Amino acid sequence: MKIKVDFDLCESNGLCEAMAPEVFELDDDDFLQLRTEHTTDENIDNVKRAVAACPRAAITLVEDDA
Ligand code: SF4
Repeated sequence: MKIKVDFDLCESNGLCEAMAPEVFELDDDDFLQLRTEHTTDENIDNVKRAVAACPRAAITLVEDDA
């Protein structure tokens, strides 16, 4: 699946990075960066935790062919 972040909603609190540091990373200016835009068998559980943890509901997962 594809990982999408609504950067207008994101408040850079880093909760997603805490759940899935292999995918989400706050840069030196506190802007959220995606290390990958795609889920894998390895990261999907952590990505789902990040989606659930985001207080702004800024992270969504969409089908690759959507
Ligand atoms: S948890 Fe949500 S609001 Fe916080 S940095 Fe991640 S995407 Fe942004």
